[in-house]
This record gives sequence, structure tokens and C-alpha cells, in this order.
Amino acid sequence: MKPFTYERAATPAEAAKAVAARPDAKFIAGGTNLLDLMKLQIETPAHLVDVNGLDLDRIEETPEGGLRIGALVRNTDLAADMRVRRDYGVLSRAILAGASGQLRNRATTAGNLLQRTRCPYFYDPGQPCNKRRPGSGCAAIGGFSRPLGVIGTSGACIATNPGDMAVALRVLDAVVETVAPEGGTRRIPVAEFHKLPGETPQVENALAPGELVTAVTLPKPAGGKQIYRKVRDRASYAFALVSVAAIIQRDGSGRVAFGGVAPKPWRVEAAEADLPRGARPTAAAVFAGANPTRDNAFKLKLAERTLEAVLTEARS
Ligand code: SF4
Repeated sequence: MKPFTYERAATPAEAAKAVAARPDAKFIAGGTNLLDLMKLQIETPAHLVDVNGLDLDRIEETPEGGLRIGALVRNTDLAADMRVRRDYGVLSRAILAGASGQLRNRATTAGNLLQRTRCPYFYDPGQPCNKRRPGSGCAAIGGFSRPLGVIGTSGACIATNPGDMAVALRVLDAVVETVAPEGGTRRIPVAEFHKLPGETPQVENALAPGELVTAVTLPKPAGGKQIYRKVRDRASYAFALVSVAAIIQRDGSGRVAFGGVAPKPWRVEAAEADLPRGARPTAAAVFAGANPTRDNAFKLKLAERTLEAVLTEARS
């Protein structure tokens, strides 16, 4: 690990200002992804701004009937919150499907949204990777691509977003709240938070330099049957090959988002109109324009079958 300096921020705006002041500075909260990346020297910040002391660790009810989840709420606490379990079951289930108990105790809401891809070549400094070193190439294209993306990818990067929580937030229409270095605030729909790679796969989200996530807001409960199903190579502590977050109403209508298939949680609202008519047309519409590799084309069939299983469960 490279040496770095360290400070503790007293307010969100102060933290944002401190990170914006230096291009080599980063926020640190739970550190469950960042510290691994620093040990491998994939991330080499020269300065860390610790945000753990900020007053951002509460879950509060909003005047609109939803919930405002502080950026520092730990994944374990969020999944266990009675209001989340009762009204946003898909979120609770998605969080519990991710990582391990120890990691969830430490990982934060904002950090979970910001975690980086688990593409194996991204973690191997000896390999070309446009996300780690822009312009160096992509070892995954033509290499081992089984766990990687089938849609939303580009000729520069085919990595997936590894999150579970983010897939649930996408189907819940969550909004990310931020503070900028000069103190201004923003609300970013989670649908617009993660970016597709295009020619700049190193740009992974909509945050400006120094902009700090302060909370995630959930709208009032959507009701319905809420399911998160994750298909992976082993039963725990593994990333999704395919996951499905779904909220299905009594009449069969609903919302569906997929994880493990794209550089961001993948949801196509237009395809949801097909839901009452059955799963197959929906899966076909969601994955229209997919560009899988030879190694990961199976994900399209897996996604279709996982969706069918989720809909069968929801309608039972
Ligand atoms: Fe890097 Fe993306 Fe290629 Fe993986 S898929 S090697 S993260 S550029």
C-alpha cells in the first residue's frame, strides 16, 4: 500500500471541500472495497478524508411517506430496519444476498452504491484495463468474460456493476442526495446515477469531483410482492451471475430490474407493460440489443428463466 495522509471531516460540506481540493484525495467510510483496491495499488489516493464521524447514520421518515437513509447507515442496520423489512422488502433481501455478515456490518449505503466492478482484469495490474488505466485496452474482451456484462457494454469495457442493493434501489425508484464542495445539494435519480462505459469506462457515476453522497431517499411504499432472487456460482459470498429485483402487484403489473448483466442496474420501464402478459416477452424486451460474448451468452437464458421463476413466485 502506498503512503497516504488522513483527516477526519466535521461536516459533509467540509468533507466535500477537502476532497475537491486535491485530485488525489478520496472519501473513506466503511472501506470494504477501497482498502482492498489500495492494497493492490489499483487505487492510490495520497489523501483520505474520513466521513465516518458525520451525522449521516439515521433512517428517517420523509413528509412524502417514504424513507431517507443516511449515507453512513450500515448495510446490516438498513436490512434489519423494521420499516424497510415491512415496506421495502426487496431492499432488505437484496442487501442480505450480498457479501458476508462481517462486511455488511461495516459497509455503508453510499459505499455500496459506489463499489467498483469485480472484473478480474481490473484487479490485475499486469493486464490492460481501460477502467483502471484509460487507453490501455480491455483484457476481458477476448479473454475470460463469463462473469461480465451482456448489455450496456461498449468496445472499451464490458464490466458489470457488482451491487445487489443498487438493483433493489433501481426498482424502488430511489433518489441519491449529494452535497457539492461549495455547499450546494443535488438529487439524482438512481436510474441516472451509474453511467454506461462508452469510451470513458473510468467514469462510473454522475458525481462531480468532491461531491459527497449524503443520503438515499425512497418514495412512499409501492406495496405488491417484493422479491430479490440472485443466481451465483456458490450459495453465499459471491457476486451475481444474474439477479432480479421485482415488485409485482396483484393484477400482475409491476417493475423489474436485473443485476449482474450490465454496467448499471438494468431496468427497461417500457418492457414492464408486458408483465401482465407473461415473462418471456418481457425478458426479450429488456435484453433487446444485448451484445454478449461467447462465454457469457448463457446469461440471457439465465435472466429469462430467473425472471420466470420470480414471476411464478410472485403470482403463487
Ligand atoms: Fe477493465 Fe472493463 Fe475491460 Fe474489465 S471489462 S478489463 S474493467 S476495461
